[in-house]
Amino acid sequence: MTVERTGTPAPEQPAPPPLKAAGSAPDDVGALFERARAGDRRALGRLLTFTEQGGARADAVAVAAWPLAGGAHVLGITGAPGVGKSTLTDCLAQVAVDDGWRVAILAVDPSSPLTGGAILGDRVRMGSAAVPGGPFVRSMASRGQSGGLALAALAAVRLLDATGHDLIIVETVGIGQVEVDIARTADTTIVAVSPGWGDAVQANKAGLLEMADIFVVNKADRAGATDARRDLEHMLDLGHRAGWRPPVALTVATSGDGAEELFKHVQDHRSYLRDHRSEGDRRAGHVAEEVRRHLHRWVDTLVAQPSESAAQLFAEVAAGRLAPSLAARRLAGEIGHDSAADTGDDGMGG
Ligand code: GDP
Repeated sequence: MTVERTGTPAPEQPAPPPLKAAGSAPDDVGALFERARAGDRRALGRLLTFTEQGGARADAVAVAAWPLAGGAHVLGITGAPGVGKSTLTDCLAQVAVDDGWRVAILAVDPSSPLTGGAILGDRVRMGSAAVPGGPFVRSMASRGQSGGLALAALAAVRLLDATGHDLIIVETVGIGQVEVDIARTADTTIVAVSPGWGDAVQANKAGLLEMADIFVVNKADRAGATDARRDLEHMLDLGHRAGWRPPVALTVATSGDGAEELFKHVQDHRSYLRDHRSEGDRRAGHVAEEVRRHLHRWVDTLVAQPSESAAQLFAEVAAGRLAPSLAARRLAGEIGHDSAADTGDDGMGG
């Protein structure tokens, strides 16, 4: 499968115009959604753009997708830049397609704003995306609001799920907070490292090792791969985790060696989840996490762009007349009345 990285994207993409025609948006979305469900990738691409942009159309997409989502297996692939995640993602996607899965790849890059310097944002994998039955591929870069990106990625996953993809691979570029947030909502998380402890130590710092369902030591054609595997196994021994024990796979993503075995681990983990966790539990866990994030985002917005009354509260705190905890408590009452909550605007002003 070819991975093509084109040059820089159109620089300084203007922010999308506000979509005022809220009345017509749902119809528009409804028609596109039906087309996307019938396999129209262009329609799906447009819906994903709405999702990224936020606002009324994004909400309409979410409303259409929500009841139909839940069937897909969401596979997160994370690890430090350069360990071979994109190459590995392509390999895994191919193995899954050959096995009869309908696969979508969502490449999320919080580190790269749409304006220049994009690593994944400018990625166009024409090779795979153009093949009928091949994986659907989409990149998402940050629009400057990382909290918004994690939420947009979740919404995108749900849309891909609702439009008939049964394996959604979410690949993140690095090991920052957004990656951790995204990995947390995957059903199965693969943490990729390469030989040499450097990457593993970085991943450990970011708390990624704890969330691994499967480890993969990629670049197994290089010296030190079996040592890295042994060290990971040792770490797992010390961890004494109950339940699922993450397997440690070795791959050479550039040749595809080990990819089938890795995908087998994914399927084993999926079976494990089915046996040990009810569908209801799974959905409930995801929903709670997502609602928490929306709340978080609203709170951030409220603090960053305080309403008149919020600003007044801050002033009172600054003047020593009100305790911060009390101000927070009063602000919590404001969230529900925030216009963002009522109008369906994403509240980020964009
Ligand atoms: P990412 O930043 O983690 O997505 O890494 P990439 O997939 O972009 O790969 C980074 C570099 O490592 C590229 O030049 C790949 O060709 C190379 N690479 C990926 N997998 C392997 C592998 O298994 N062995 C070797 N030797 N190189 C690899």
